[in-house]
Amino acid sequence: MSLASNRGAGRTFFVADLHLTDERPAATGRFFRFLQDEVTGADALYILGDLFEAWTGDDHDEQVARDAASRLKALADAGTAVYFMHGNRDFMLAQRYAAQSGMTLIGDPTRIDLYGVPTLLMHGDTLCTDDLAYQDFRRRVRHPFVLALLRHLPRSLRRRLARQARAGSESAKAGKAAEIMDVNAEEVGRVLREQAVCRLIHGHTHRPARHAHVVDGSDCERWVLPDWYERWGYAVCDAAGCALRVEAL
Ligand code: MN
Repeated sequence: MSLASNRGAGRTFFVADLHLTDERPAATGRFFRFLQDEVTGADALYILGDLFEAWTGDDHDEQVARDAASRLKALADAGTAVYFMHGNRDFMLAQRYAAQSGMTLIGDPTRIDLYGVPTLLMHGDTLCTDDLAYQDFRRRVRHPFVLALLRHLPRSLRRRLARQARAGSESAKAGKAAEIMDVNAEEVGRVLREQAVCRLIHGHTHRPARHAHVVDGSDCERWVLPDWYERWGYAVCDAAGCALRVEAL
């Protein structure tokens, strides 16, 4: 097999916080080129939440939703496993859209064996335990009963509620200290210990980095994925380890 047709093999890609919307075509174009140029031929692609800027249900009618479904489906049909974890923007994404996109829905957190290394995947919002108001909001809105109720509302009402939630979140964020919206280091340690892993990959905070955490004497690592607003990027892992790539959009 030539290198060109084998470029993604033996590698797994991780992205989050693309926040795709018809209003930001540059990010959409970049994502589709990324899928075609880099992910094609890879073992797997994990989308760790907030693929979309907003998602009020699988009847979401932006063009980017239809285009992303066909691109992701083509990738999956060509042999790259595509996984999707909910973010705080697109937690209403359900089985119908996942099937159209060839994506397998996975829970938050999900523990995988990544080329022999137990690795924990999360969106990241549950790690921000200092933000008590957000955690309270999350618990309420993600309750199965509330989710079921939301899914049965007319689309226009779901859209209005989503707009209100986003506006409320933006104004709340403006009044919060930056540290409150970052992950809580003790919570990271607690989760790594509880899940018996020494590698964590997540998004949500829009603070791409590789962090070292010593947990019970072991040197553990936490990879934070970039958002796709003014930049774009991903983590890629193979048997030798992981790397982070962040570029200007
Ligand atoms: Mn998020």
